[in-house]
Amino acid sequence: MCENVVKVEELAALLISFPTEMPPGNEEECAAYLKDYFHDLDIEKCEIEMHRFAEKRANLIVRIGPLGRAGLLFSGHIDVVPAGDPNMWDTPAFEPRIREGRLYGRGAADMKGGVAALVKAIETFKDKELKRGIIFIATAGEEKDFDGLKALIRDGKLRDGDALYGVIGEPTELRVVRAHKGGAIFKITSRGRSAHSSRPDLGINAIENAAHFIVELIGLREKLGELQDPDLGSSVLSTTIIEGGIKENVIPESCQMIVDCRMIPAHSSEYIRSRLEELASRLREKLPTLHLTITEIFSYDPLNTPRDHPFVKLCEEITGQASETAPYGTEGPLYQKLDIPTVILGPGNVKQAHIPNEYVEIKQLHQAQSIYEELIRRICL
Ligand SMILES: [Zn+2]
Repeated sequence: MCENVVKVEELAALLISFPTEMPPGNEEECAAYLKDYFHDLDIEKCEIEMHRFAEKRANLIVRIGPLGRAGLLFSGHIDVVPAGDPNMWDTPAFEPRIREGRLYGRGAADMKGGVAALVKAIETFKDKELKRGIIFIATAGEEKDFDGLKALIRDGKLRDGDALYGVIGEPTELRVVRAHKGGAIFKITSRGRSAHSSRPDLGINAIENAAHFIVELIGLREKLGELQDPDLGSSVLSTTIIEGGIKENVIPESCQMIVDCRMIPAHSSEYIRSRLEELASRLREKLPTLHLTITEIFSYDPLNTPRDHPFVKLCEEITGQASETAPYGTEGPLYQKLDIPTVILGPGNVKQAHIPNEYVEIKQLHQAQSIYEELIRRICL
């Protein structure tokens, strides 16, 4: 039995060296590394399970301590966004380097640094008798559409109320994020009829019909803005992509739009969808040639752990910072749906996420580890 003496920044560096770019993911080797890491800790009450859900894709779930409802769920994703153009990096993205108190590499901030800090905090208590258990989950596919965590839940590996509270170690500069908006992306296709552009009267111009709809969408955005959430402002939506037409002298028969929506808790993706359908059918009364199909491509729920929730209060006390909201989405709502109130709290700045020369301050890795340790001490010991 050898004593594990790897430091948090060293563990983070080891995790960065697995190129888990999403797409395609390839998280299995990284998950297997963490599996072996937990195995080597030789914790008395410890259940370790790799959850493979697709070729070379796996989550890891580890349950430590007594059976029954765990005190804490610690979670982080092990996939990363693509490194992009190698010329934009001073040193290779998957060859982590430490320079001037920072750890560089793809995923340093988002979020292999956070994963390492969560693991090291658990390791600190490996020989202690816990009153309440800890669940650790390394997820795959967060940068896609949470497909790893969704598969894990679908396969019954995590159930309703499995833990009292959840922490996701995404980069928040060690601030407590208790809420963020939900999101949805819709693809809207306008169908018309092609004709020679010298005789537009013989065709139905799918682009022009789409344009009418886009103007209505701006009106819908203004209406949605009338409802303000005290934490998160209002729901917004925007047309972000439009494509259509095949040739300069052909009346276009098809046009596709992408509409991106960010919703406050009062508005579900189903609600937004029904507003879009309603808008289309009202417009059709004025514009009988309008033919639209509306498809939801992807959506996620908002996170809304209450400001005065005891767990939010405890995290505020430990970090010495008031809780906040975030503009981006996380896996938090999937845990929230399982009745596990969750906050986002981790090392690194989200501005460092998804850019070349990504880094995390090593000092923040150590601070994060201490915060997670304090949470374990307060809730699980
Ligand atoms: Zn992330």
